[in-house]
Amino acid sequence: MLLGSVAPDGGTTHGLGLRATAPVPAGTVVWFPCPQCPTYTPDQLGLLPPDVVDRLDTWGHLLSDARMLVPCAGAYLMNHSCTPSVLDFGLDFGVAVVDIPAGAEVTCDYGTFNGDPESWSMDCVCGSPSCRGEVGTVDHADPAVRASWVERVEAVLPAVRAVPQPLGRLLSTHSAAYRSVLDGLSRVDGSGDSVVRPGFLGVSV
Ligand SMILES: [Zn+2]
Ligand SMILES: [Zn+2]
Repeated sequence: MLLGSVAPDGGTTHGLGLRATAPVPAGTVVWFPCPQCPTYTPDQLGLLPPDVVDRLDTWGHLLSDARMLVPCAGAYLMNHSCTPSVLDFGLDFGVAVVDIPAGAEVTCDYGTFNGDPESWSMDCVCGSPSCRGEVGTVDHADPAVRASWVERVEAVLPAVRAVPQPLGRLLSTHSAAYRSVLDGLSRVDGSGDSVVRPGFLGVSV
């Protein structure tokens, strides 16, 4: 599920991406894996043509139960940045960690996606001054990178409780992490799961 004020847009550095159509205050939940997001088991993927699997692999991410999930409502188009405006580390939803102005691209950090049992990496062209150059499995294993994600996520948790949450009703139903944040959660697990273990799988974070 994707925030209504974030929409697909073609004019980004990576081709297709997402852009804020209205200001998105820090603390706003931008997207989360929901029961309407299409998922594919390894057996189902095995029956699809390779080019379709490649496309799903580009758009989706593996869950902790080995299914591939493709974020619905256009959220699958979110590009990576090494200085992302949205983070999900230690949560099962992506939250704006900065105030995102109208017109700005909305990005997340692919390094948090640790559901793939195989190691993977990609060259990064995000253009951030703190670009890591290469993004992949190594990031999640790097304590310094994880610490930076934890710091940015924990800094914004009070704002999650304070700002309007257009997705709040659905989140309360489907996200264990969101309920924990509303209950006053101030720290996240730095060993970390993320949207690879969504609340709708019935697993608490
Ligand atoms: Zn969904
Ligand atoms: Zn980068």
